[in-house]
Amino acid sequence: MAAIASSVLVAGARVAGTACAEVLLDRGAAVTVYDRDDSERLQALAARGARTAHGDFDPALLDGIEQVLLSPGFAPHHPIAAAARAAGIETFSEPELAWRLRESGAAIWLAVTGTNGKTTTTTMLAAMLKAGGLRTAALGNIGVPLVQAANGPYDAIAVELSSYQLHWSSELAPTAGVVLNLAPDHLDWHGSFDAYAEAKAAVWRGGQAVVNLDDPAVVALAKHTEAHVTGFTLNQPDPGQFGVALGYLVDFTGAEPVQICSVDLVRPAGWHNVANALAAAALARQAGVSHADIAEAIRTYVPEPHRNVAFAEHGGVTWVDDSKATNPHAAAAALAAYDSVVWVAGGQLKGVDVDGLVADYAHKMRAAVLIGQDRAEIAEALARHAPDLPVAVLDGGDDAVMTDVAARAAQYARPGDTVLLSPAAASYDMFRSYAHRGDAFADAVRELLGEVDG
Ligand code: ADP
Repeated sequence: MAAIASSVLVAGARVAGTACAEVLLDRGAAVTVYDRDDSERLQALAARGARTAHGDFDPALLDGIEQVLLSPGFAPHHPIAAAARAAGIETFSEPELAWRLRESGAAIWLAVTGTNGKTTTTTMLAAMLKAGGLRTAALGNIGVPLVQAANGPYDAIAVELSSYQLHWSSELAPTAGVVLNLAPDHLDWHGSFDAYAEAKAAVWRGGQAVVNLDDPAVVALAKHTEAHVTGFTLNQPDPGQFGVALGYLVDFTGAEPVQICSVDLVRPAGWHNVANALAAAALARQAGVSHADIAEAIRTYVPEPHRNVAFAEHGGVTWVDDSKATNPHAAAAALAAYDSVVWVAGGQLKGVDVDGLVADYAHKMRAAVLIGQDRAEIAEALARHAPDLPVAVLDGGDDAVMTDVAARAAQYARPGDTVLLSPAAASYDMFRSYAHRGDAFADAVRELLGEVDG
């Protein structure tokens, strides 16, 4: 089969799918684009010569198709994926297409995956590559689609890859890749934890595996890789590893341990971000960046929004937006960082069990305010593990509910507390995105505090 066939169906006409269809049309392929919904994007692609279809998927669309390009929304059990499999048609994702279209002399790929910390680590890595004087960009789920950018004027690119994108890949083989951590997420998409983990292992296909030694699931996954393993740990590193010693990030992959910089310089604060910085450093070293340049990048790194950002302080209460915590593993990292928390949570749990999170952290909670589709499930877990905890379960399905959230949280909070939006769940039941959710929370809080002051 040719790397890129002459007759391709692109499923999903959002940003990445549209970019793929455009690139394929430019290359003279016969392109069919399918999306459930009609849109201006779909119409624009039709005007450029694509055959387009919307509504329920009609299997006849696959007649004569040699390859199917699937957007992340299409799970393996989606009728298109199932029909393509049954017909023996190759399926892949946008990063796989970008990989296949790399031109000679194109940038090397340094890839980041994991349940949490991908964007933080990818942007830290890009900062390190830049500090090292390399032409670079943070790409993947970030910024311009890879298929448009991967042949750009770069020496090395920092690429964030999701489990969906890796699942639909077969040739994509980054120079080096990290699996940051593995916790249950997206199980409804992948079908099982093992299938989810297995998808992530594809990031090591290029032969250099960066591995979180503190995460048993990642270590178990790495047992099966043929790649060369470089481990990182928050403990003292053994030879061949990155780690932490005497309060410093340390590279012990050479003959002697090298201190990179103090852990106190890592932003956002928290041990999970020290782990992210170690992972980024291990990848940056693969591109030849010096320890001094890595340290400089850590010192000057500007964190991404909605990840543990303290945005207001009033009456001794700190208000934190960690809306990006879309699964319990991420919420655990945030809850671990504070002593006494009014926890704002809820949304779509995506089939993931929240019981362990609640069992581990309910003792830190002053109260909880719950919203969203799966709020009752979280309330039940709280009732099991902390029956005396005050819990407000709020109805309402739009921005307005955040006004109630802010008011209830303010009633519960005492001086010294942190009101923490760290939902442990996806946002799409109520909001356009995690960013929209975080902004709605911060706006409501600012309005409330303004009224209090005013
Ligand atoms: P991703 O791109 O994988 O979603 P982000 O860097 O955007 O990761 O962070 C997502 C959420 O996970 C945030 O709430 C953040 O505070 C938390 N987080 C970041 N790094 C880690 C980590 N190594 N382990 C656990 N949680 C993390």
